Amino acid sequence: MARIELYDTTLRDGMQGEGMSLSAGEKLRVAHRLDELGIDLIEAGFPSSNPKELELFGLLAGESFRHAEIAAFGMTRRRDVAADADPALRVIAESFAPVCTLVGKTWALHLEKVVKVDREENLRMIADSVAFLVAAGKRVIYDAEHFFDGFADDPAYALRCLRAAADAGAETVVCCDTNGGTLPHVVGIAMGEVVGALGGGPGASGVRIGIHTHDDAGCGVANALAAVLNGATHVQGTINGYGERCGNANMISIIPNLQLKLGYECLSAEQLAALTPAANYIAELLNFTPDPDSPYVGRNAFAHKGGMHVAGVTADPATFEHIEPDVVGNRRELLISELSGKGTVQARAREAGISLSDADAATMVERVKELEHRGYHFEAADGSFELLLRREAEDYEPLFTLESWRVIVERRADAQLVTEATIKIWLGGERYVRTAEGNGPVNALDRALREALGEIHPHLRDIDLVNFKVRILDETKGTGAVTRVLLDASDGDRVWGSIGVSENVIESSWEALVDSLEYGMQLGRRDGSRVSPATVVPGT
Ligand SMILES: [Zn+2]
Repeated sequence: MARIELYDTTLRDGMQGEGMSLSAGEKLRVAHRLDELGIDLIEAGFPSSNPKELELFGLLAGESFRHAEIAAFGMTRRRDVAADADPALRVIAESFAPVCTLVGKTWALHLEKVVKVDREENLRMIADSVAFLVAAGKRVIYDAEHFFDGFADDPAYALRCLRAAADAGAETVVCCDTNGGTLPHVVGIAMGEVVGALGGGPGASGVRIGIHTHDDAGCGVANALAAVLNGATHVQGTINGYGERCGNANMISIIPNLQLKLGYECLSAEQLAALTPAANYIAELLNFTPDPDSPYVGRNAFAHKGGMHVAGVTADPATFEHIEPDVVGNRRELLISELSGKGTVQARAREAGISLSDADAATMVERVKELEHRGYHFEAADGSFELLLRREAEDYEPLFTLESWRVIVERRADAQLVTEATIKIWLGGERYVRTAEGNGPVNALDRALREALGEIHPHLRDIDLVNFKVRILDETKGTGAVTRVLLDASDGDRVWGSIGVSENVIESSWEALVDSLEYGMQLGRRDGSRVSPATVVPGT
């Protein structure tokens, strides 16, 4: 079976979705996670539409990936401007990205109503732009926007648009269902004609044909599959289907469907087994609750309730399950965390240089289960997880002993808010009492704590809190609503996550704050010196 090229656009098209927000550093972590998963191409956006993208491309340029290649995204040249004089195209040509994806028009309705460009000029815009980037040494992917609407309206012209890109040297032409309203049988027929007209398809020497779909008719994934079944060998999608309106085609569903149901080659078995953790990791980073009902990777995807189902699954899992959950890194129980398996716990301990016996590992698994039940979730809190291992496994020496903390928030008549925190801690046999003001309770506590600790551990001054995410967990756990705080901290070289859970948001924050600083100290103690950026493994 043919190998299908996987193209992820979470960092570009996916970011159009509501509530999608990632810093450049976080996007870099997503890119590494996609690389580990085995994604072939990662679309990172337009290299300089804003300072954030500029920062991202700066970061990406200095990074090495095991497998994935970075694609810069842009549009065909403007009308009446030569490609080499188009500032946006020049930016893409000058970016470090080896692959450039260009989007252009296919549908007469858009040419007439939106861009006001005649059909022949549109074909020249496509050809000139592709040729310019090919001449600049780029591999070019051409995204034919509104392809299926254009094809329904005027099939011959839609094919001419694709051919213009292919003849100009594009390695892949992608048929996009930009409005997301096309149904699978229509996609299938159109793709068959595209492949027939342009070559492509498995084993063919023609241009590679790709598919980019949206979920407005609930058929994003089905449309991608229909395209592949009719000869497309390049599939675009986003992690968890993030994207504007109803979202893009969900790559997390597309991959196992292609590989397990249709027999196409996408990922190695180990990579496929990392699908669930990757989906959850990216959701957590975006501060979204992972969708429990998500196909393949949701917490409920292989959860069984009710006597008959449980008895059936116990007798033979095939009775009520369409695949083995561990093939995609999911599990049969309600428990979701990737960290809850004994083998994983032991592997993580080894990584951190902690020796953990079989019995200790089993105890840890139970401990993690119990904490998860209370609302902890360690997938995005690697720092807290390692500390948990240390606290359980060794004679752990805490950074300090807390006597008490107190926060006062005062609102004055002139609407000014003043926050003041006092902490009392024991450190190296001495009692430290420190008071600090801040722009909020967490900030004030952080300052007071650092003031005390910084006297003995100056390394702490290098640690910044880079992210602070709060989520109110629902009451399904039977303990009333609790607040979960996820903190990301960085010493400039590495980024780690920590977590706190409590009914009180300040206590959750305190817990996460202490973990983030303690973990930062662990790094300092363990390495003796700072680690180089090359050794950063995001997500670990
Ligand atoms: Zn799109």
